[in-house]
Parts: sequence; C-alpha cells; structure tokens
Amino acid sequence: MSAANRWPTQGSRQAALLAKLDIHRPEDLIVHLPLRYEDETRLTPIAQALPGETAQIEAVVLSCEIAGPRRQLLARLRDDADSEIVARWINFYPSLQKQLTAGRRFRLFGEVRGGFFGIEMVHPRLRPVTEGEPLPRALTPVYPATAGLSQTVLRELADFALQNTPLDDLLPAALRRRLELPGFAEAIRTLHHPPPEADARALAARTHPAWRRVKFEELLAQQLSLRRAYNARRAHEAISLPPRQTLTAALRESLPFALTAAQSRAVAEIAADLAASHPMQRLLQGDVGSGKTVVAACAMLQAAENGWQAVLMAPTEILAEQHYRKLAAWFAPLGLDIVWLSGGRKKREREAGLARLRSGECLLAAGTHALIEDPVDLPRLALAVIDEQHRFGVRQRLALRDKGISGARPHMLMMSATPIPRTLAMTHYADFDVTALDELPPGRAPVTTRLVCATRREEVIARLEAACLGGQQAYWVCPLIEESEALQLKTALETWETLKAALPTLRIGLIHGRLKSEEKAAAMTAFSTGELHVLVATTVIEVGVDVPRASLMVIEHAERFGLAQLHQLRGRVGRGAARSTCVLIYERPLSETARARLKAIYEQSDGFAIAREDLRIRGPGEFIGARQSGLPLLRYADLEADGDMIDTARDVAGELLAGAPEAVDRLLARWLGGREALLRA
Ligand code: ADP
Ligand code: MG
Repeated sequence: MSAANRWPTQGSRQAALLAKLDIHRPEDLIVHLPLRYEDETRLTPIAQALPGETAQIEAVVLSCEIAGPRRQLLARLRDDADSEIVARWINFYPSLQKQLTAGRRFRLFGEVRGGFFGIEMVHPRLRPVTEGEPLPRALTPVYPATAGLSQTVLRELADFALQNTPLDDLLPAALRRRLELPGFAEAIRTLHHPPPEADARALAARTHPAWRRVKFEELLAQQLSLRRAYNARRAHEAISLPPRQTLTAALRESLPFALTAAQSRAVAEIAADLAASHPMQRLLQGDVGSGKTVVAACAMLQAAENGWQAVLMAPTEILAEQHYRKLAAWFAPLGLDIVWLSGGRKKREREAGLARLRSGECLLAAGTHALIEDPVDLPRLALAVIDEQHRFGVRQRLALRDKGISGARPHMLMMSATPIPRTLAMTHYADFDVTALDELPPGRAPVTTRLVCATRREEVIARLEAACLGGQQAYWVCPLIEESEALQLKTALETWETLKAALPTLRIGLIHGRLKSEEKAAAMTAFSTGELHVLVATTVIEVGVDVPRASLMVIEHAERFGLAQLHQLRGRVGRGAARSTCVLIYERPLSETARARLKAIYEQSDGFAIAREDLRIRGPGEFIGARQSGLPLLRYADLEADGDMIDTARDVAGELLAGAPEAVDRLLARWLGGREALLRA
C-alpha cells in the first residue's frame, strides 16, 4: 500500500469530490469502509486462468498496437510460464499505448474472458512492476466512490488517514470485554486491509467481528446523539397545561362511547406531558381504527381549558375536513368553536377564521399544511397535533413548532397509523416518547381479505351489486399509477364509467385528487350519509377516511400498492358492526415482491406485524424515507441483521452519558461529524 503524502487542501477539486461522499477530514475516511475487496495477494498463471474468473496476472508486453475498424488498443503479453494473453481497450488515452512498450512487466487485474485471440482481459487494471516485486499482503479495498475520484486516489488517501489519525478506542476496556468486541484500531485496520487469511465470507456478509465492532459503535453514536437531542429538547421552555378536568371531563361524558383502556392510558400519559414546562414530543402509534382522534381531542381540550390554543394538522384535505367535522361535533356541545383551515377554503371564510385565531378568540383549529403557512398567526399556540406524521417532512414539523409565542415551544403530539417496527422506533425515533394504542374499540368484526385474479373481475362486480342491494356500501379503489397522475385520473374515470354502466341500479360516486375541495367534500358527504352506494376513488382516500357503514373494499391492481398502503386502505372498512370484506384484485404475472406483499396482507391483520414485514421487504431506508426522517440513515448497521445490538447500544449510551462525557463527544465526532445538527431538528 502506498499512502498519499498529504490531505487535499480545502477548495481543491479533490476536496470537493470527497465532500460529495461526506468526507471532510481524514477521520471521516477512517470510517468510510470498503464495499468489498479484490484479491491481489496472489498471481494466477495465464494457463490456469478460467474465463469468468477475476484474476491477477503478471506478464511482459510483447507488442501493442491500435487495430480494427473500431480502433481498439490491443496488447499481447506473456507470463513467465510462456503463456500469452491479450489485453484490450475500447477507450483509452494515448499515454496508455506509450506505457505499454515491449519488454515492460505489468500486473493485470480483471475478469478473464475467452476471446477471439485466446484468453483476454478487457480494460484490465494495470500496474507496472519490477520482476520479483512482492505481492500485497492484504486484500485490496474497493471503496464507495464518486465520479472523478478513483479507487487509487481513495486508497492512497485512506492509507494517509490510517497512518495519520489516532485510532483511539473510545469504549472502556471492561465494556469491550463484556461485549466481546475487538479493539477499534484492530477492527478498522482489518476492514481497510484484511489479511488474506481473513474469513472472506464473514467480511462480505459483514458478520466478521471487525464489522460487529464498527456497527456497534455506529449504533451507539446514534443512540448518544438521539439521547442528547432528547435532553436538549427538555431544556426548552413550554407552556405548562395542567389537566383541569373541566373540558376534558365534559367531553368524555358526552361521548357516545367509553374510551378503551389503551385510549385512557394514552390520554393520561399525554396529560402528564402537557403539564410539564418543557415541550412534549410524543408519538401516538395506533393501528388503523384504534381511535387516535379522540385522544387528540382530549389533548386539545386540555390546552383549551388552560386558555391556550391547540391545532390539528392532517396531510390531506379530505382527512383534515373529516377531523374538523368530527371535532366540531364533539366540541359544540361543550360550547367550543373550532376553525377549519385548508387551501381550498373560500377567501372570506379563511380570513374570518384567521382573524379569530389571531385575536385568540378561538382556541382550536384543524386543517392541512395551510396551518403552517404565513398568514396563520397562532399567538397562544401551546399544542400542535400532527396526524399521519410520516407524511410530513421535518421542515413542516419545525414550521409548526415555530408558530407559538417566542421563548416557548408548543407541545407536539405526532400520530401515526403506520406502526414503526421496534428496531426503527429505537433508532430513528428514539428522541420521541412513544405511546401505543394496542387495542381496538370493542365490537369490531375482523375484515375478511380475499385475493382475486383480475380474470374474475366480473364476479367481483356481481358481488358488489349484491352487497349494495343488501344495504351495504363499498369503496372501489383504482390502480395506483406511480408514473403518471394523469393516467391515474383517466383510469379512475374509466372505472367509474364502467361500473356505472354495469350496475345501473346503484348510485356510484367518484373522488380523486384533482377535484375541487367542494367537490371532494360533496362526494365524501354523499357517501357518508349513505346517498351513494359505491365510491370509486384514487388513493386520496388512503388515509384516515372514516365511514363506519362502508363494509366492502375493492382494490384493483393490488399488486402495485405498498404493504402499508394496502393496510391503510383495508382499514377503511371494518369500522362498523357489519362484517366487512376487502377484495384485492391482482393481475398476473406477479413479481417476487408483489407476491410477498399480497401474502403478507392476506395472512396478517395486525398493523405491527405488517409493518415488520414491510420493513423486511423494503428495508428501512424506503420505510421512512430520508426526506421524512431528516436523519442520516445508518451506514453500516442493519436494523434487521443487527437488531440484537440496538438494546445494548442504548444501555451503553446511558452508561457513557453518565460516566464518560468525553468519550461521548469523541464518538459523536467520529461517527456523525458535522451532521449532528441535523439530528437535533
Ligand atoms: P384512527 O386511529 O384510525 O384515526 P379514528 O380516531 O378515526 O381511528 O377512530 C375510528 C372510529 O372509531 C371512529 O368512528 C371513532 O369515533 C370510533 N371510536 C374511537 N374510539 C372508540 C371507542 N372507545 N369505542 C367505540 N368507538 C370508538
Ligand atoms: Mg386517523
């Protein structure tokens, strides 16, 4: 290995390229670990090289010429056992030809092919050597790279970093022994330059002890950072909203149902948080239909009974309006008003609502992201509830947070029906307190799921008709067409026309994202009052829609939907007393993933189990999406494969924060560098 003799100067081209890889200092390159390795520790005699194999060959140039109509560079070389090989370049710089003069000795590394001229290599990696030059004693690392930054440069810089950076072990020795982890320096050196006798399979599978050490440290740094963010948040001021049991008690009395035990527990936890003088940051997780809205209503009333404002923000207009209606109906008997804010409202109504919020005359509001837009003034905001929080970005969450009075942050209650698997909750959401509604309101009959091939669509239509004539209501969800919203709309219109023609006795409505707000609202109202039998819909109805009388859900091209989406859609039925059915129409052929998803949704009804399956099928990156989380994803640790280390990392984080603050700072600097600020968002 040859090391660079210095680190690229700031502002240089190389520094800019490294920055693309989030490498700013030698320390960052220390933890920029190889994707895989190449074995240059051995030479293969040409006579033994097998086509398809990657090999290293040492040979002397016999001749070199530009040949053929496509002007390729062809070099003929011979090894010490007198076998020949052709090296071929389709694209090359003239300097390469100059380098390949007869009599020079090279090591060629690349894939061996059986070519027209016998054994050949196309675009091999080439290194001039002298006879008898020793072979590397370690495997050659292949680093994650970026265009313009070659492996050679990365290797030299990595070796510079390895030689010039102290690889201090930041884990106390006792702890390392307890966890049976190798030392940091040893692990890092092994991963950059594994000795040829290292367990290649364990290195590739990243189960090698060196990998475990690195992954553990990474998980630990993440836990430390989240814990610090959590503590930092608690150092902020918030309005204390002690439970006064005036409005909240009145709501509970006037509800037509009793809260489930899970709901009561959630209400109590939130009530205690709201009483504190630092901001709550709580995630209320509850499966579809578990009754999160009423828990949010209780929290909002706790703010109101203290004379402070509370808002509920939802990701879609349909959902926001539905929340508004539900809350308005619950609050009206208590003599409380609520403002509804959404992009689609008429200007005059909007202005009037804004004025009432600005003056503090009205304490409650529900709406879409219109709530965080500029003219909205919430001078007494003390609580913000965000429904379907994973649909909002961090920035929107922050915008809402900054609406309150200066000097104090509002309490935040995030709600999600997409349960976060435990490993994710512990890593990417560890700075939230979490409450789970692990119980559905009583009297819910489970939804029967049926998988039906598209060839049997007629039967489904006949069934739909029978069900509706028998007094039931149904959703018909049109296929998701990710590439084109216009095409999706067209399909929805066609489906609507077809169903109307096929079922002239039924009243069939249509709802999609392009409708005006009033039109959407009208369609929703017509469906929820029972005026329509069938509601043909695009995925706009995916989240939150609550029409208890609907008991049949048909989803076309179910194979195109994600698992979480299917679970959400299915959750739109089974909300009333009637037995409900969800029919998933799929089209063949099914991809491997689509098959796995359909199997999971067919077999599982529990949202947590489905979320775990989803995580397994898609991986965590997609599950949260970097945009939504705003958190850098783990680079090495894998939540599925390394889940067993997360608990330990969390415990150790606690120990280190209490006993070794200096090690904490250095671990964070090592693993997060400048990115820690992001985590504090
Ligand atoms: P989600 O958690 O999916 O947002 P909702 O808050 O929309 O669920 O509640 C689903 C339905 O259950 C609503 O119609 C709601 O009024 C009703 N509900 C909520 N809590 C209870 C309860 N404890 N008993 C009976 N019905 C309830
Ligand atoms: Mg909801």
